[in-house]
Amino acid sequence: MIPVIALVGRPNVGKSTLFNRLTNTRDAIVADYAGLTRDRKYGEANYLDHKFILIDTGGISGDEDGIDEVMAEQSLQAIAEADAVLFLVDCRDGLSPADQMIAKHLRINNKKTYVVANKVDGLSFDVAVAPFYELGMGEIYPTTASHGRGVKSLMTEVLAEFPPQEEEEEDDERGIKMAIVGRPNVGKSTLVNRLLGEDRVIVYDLPGTTRDSIYIDYERDGKPYTIIDTAGVRRRKNVRLTVEKFSIVKTLKAIEDANVVVLVMDSREGVVDQDLHLMGQVIDSGRALVVALNKWDGLEVEQKERIKTELDRRLRFVDFADIHFISALHGTGVGHLYESIEKAFHSATDKLSTNHLTKILEDAVVVHQPPLVNGRRIKLRYAHSGGHNPPIIVIHGNQTDRIPGHYTKYLEKTFRRVLDLHGTPVRILFKSTD
Ligand code: GDP
Ligand code: GDP
Repeated sequence: MIPVIALVGRPNVGKSTLFNRLTNTRDAIVADYAGLTRDRKYGEANYLDHKFILIDTGGISGDEDGIDEVMAEQSLQAIAEADAVLFLVDCRDGLSPADQMIAKHLRINNKKTYVVANKVDGLSFDVAVAPFYELGMGEIYPTTASHGRGVKSLMTEVLAEFPPQEEEEEDDERGIKMAIVGRPNVGKSTLVNRLLGEDRVIVYDLPGTTRDSIYIDYERDGKPYTIIDTAGVRRRKNVRLTVEKFSIVKTLKAIEDANVVVLVMDSREGVVDQDLHLMGQVIDSGRALVVALNKWDGLEVEQKERIKTELDRRLRFVDFADIHFISALHGTGVGHLYESIEKAFHSATDKLSTNHLTKILEDAVVVHQPPLVNGRRIKLRYAHSGGHNPPIIVIHGNQTDRIPGHYTKYLEKTFRRVLDLHGTPVRILFKSTD
């Protein structure tokens, strides 16, 4: 399972700076989604050959009320669910009462914690870190997050605790792993029960822990599937044993571990920001996606029209994903979900041969040549697969760093169309020989 690392600390100590450094998030992207920054605090990081989920837990300063209180609660939950905590403090301010307060929370949680003394730039190391030994939390790691100093040695220590993930073994026999995700109350449990509730399904019981999603292996029409159930329904003699509260950590881990994500939304509430954030997480992860607009039963015609218009407008960025209008409660449309799940899975994981990819590339280049750069034509020579789920198509040529964005888009569209890829993001990578 992918490790989860949480960043905690009072405001302004450098958490987002470190977050951006470790996840390679460009500030520009964050700024583009004005108003969404608060929720863009979960990211997949790939650092020193380790993959992990990084969480910037945001505001816990000790005096929160209202919205801050809700955030603080999610932060504390994230800490509880994390495998390690980076506790940031600010060398310029020294040890503050808020730091003490946060330290108290961390001690209660008994988490593996690393005290990171940030903004050490321009200060004498020994003097700067000395006050923080008073926390009694062991070694202090001095950093300058804004320039990256000290970050590598810190992360070398942190990541040494986690074994490097072995490459996903390609075991086609194990079938499709699908994560059912969505906000609370959209109908995830109802859908899980409905997906399993058909006569043709054989469910194998699998133990789940309270902390993680429940994995349900089953067969449908002789084909193996696994549902990653974030809602925490264990279907055993049709009794709902556990209902758990929404956990973003659990959801992210489920997305990470799935081949296909079924994102459930509530038609009665339309598209809400949290749906879009979840969708953003699915896209970042590269997983295949099927959208299920649930509770489609009993809606007025004009309500249906309104939602469809809203979907056209707000889900434009996931135009590769199929959208289904379903009623988990009555079972309407649920069978068709399987068709999209199958299609998305195959699109995301089928092997792509070098010959075929190169042929498609050649044809695409004949129809529409890459532009001239400084009087020299960009040449694209051949293409091969660089991985799947999501499919990565690696294209070799020269001056490829000069290829304009619209041409990359054109190639992506062409590969999608010819390979008939549905329901998965596709990534194009260029390798230049000069
Ligand atoms: P957060 O509120 O904890 O997420 O803090 P930010 O990452 O937004 O950083 C707060 C301010 O401190 C920003 O102006 C950063 O540029 C600055 N900052 C972050 N890390 C460093 C550092 O290592 N040295 C210095 N001098 N400034 C830093
Ligand atoms: P979860 O929190 O996402 O797992 O949501 P639940 O499956 O517990 O469903 C929340 C509520 O919505 C329950 O009262 C369900 O009966 C109801 N519900 C679920 N699916 C549908 C549906 O398709 N139509 C209607 N009308 N209600 C539904």
